[in-house]
Amino acid sequence: MRPNSPILGNFSEFSFQEFSITPQFGFGGLWKIHDPSGVWYRMISAPMPKVRVCMKEPCGYCEGTGRRGGMYPPDERCMWCHGSRRGEVMHWERAYASSATWTVFLKLAEAFLYQRAGAQVSEVFVSPLTQLIEVNAVTKHGDYGGALDGRYAAAVRTVLTCFPEYARIPEVEDAMVKAYHRMMGVRSFEKSSFRAQVQSADGWFVTNCPGSRSGLHPAHDAYRDIGKGWGYEFQCANVDTPVQQLTLLAGLAALITLLRTRGVEDASSMGAFHV
Ligand SMILES: [Zn+2]
Repeated sequence: MRPNSPILGNFSEFSFQEFSITPQFGFGGLWKIHDPSGVWYRMISAPMPKVRVCMKEPCGYCEGTGRRGGMYPPDERCMWCHGSRRGEVMHWERAYASSATWTVFLKLAEAFLYQRAGAQVSEVFVSPLTQLIEVNAVTKHGDYGGALDGRYAAAVRTVLTCFPEYARIPEVEDAMVKAYHRMMGVRSFEKSSFRAQVQSADGWFVTNCPGSRSGLHPAHDAYRDIGKGWGYEFQCANVDTPVQQLTLLAGLAALITLLRTRGVEDASSMGAFHV
């Protein structure tokens, strides 16, 4: 990909730093590409950005008391700092740059091309593997500014049918909590917002993160594909911020990791998956 590639021109509403290709990757070089020896693939570290940062100064809302004060009960926490007593600053630009890097990367990954070790830069190859989860992302300000949609392969759905109905998948929930905590900290009232649940015996899968019933769910016509024994498409609800988007992506990544550790390598092989 060239630095002036048209794929990088969709973010004119932002003031991102230049897009790096290698060895750093992404806007402002946020990601790091590793080249482990002895394998055909490369690894990428894509750290979650720290968005909500505590300052040394006291919270301006409660003037450093940590309490809501006034007519409210004395133990009621300040609605802004939630009892930390310190002011906060939100680094949204980091989150948008990270989201936009994902949006570009996922477009590139759609083709599932790769460069063999030692090959010319111009030589790319189509991977012999097929993708377990295809994901498309959006990065913009406003409603659905962090939208995600995509498709679970049939092998993923088959694995999901191995779980009991209404089972939660703790590996996926833990990954979402960890990602969100890194970016925002997790406040007590948000803890119940994280959910990764198989909601039917045929693999209906839903994930939720903090927001207004925000998360991923099967697309409207998913049952048509499920009825044919296929995978199905998913879409999002109320995913307005890059923090929600990155949280849900962390959940999908954890689902892939769970599948791979149980022998499901690509969309055509189920391995020997057991719950
Ligand atoms: Zn406060």
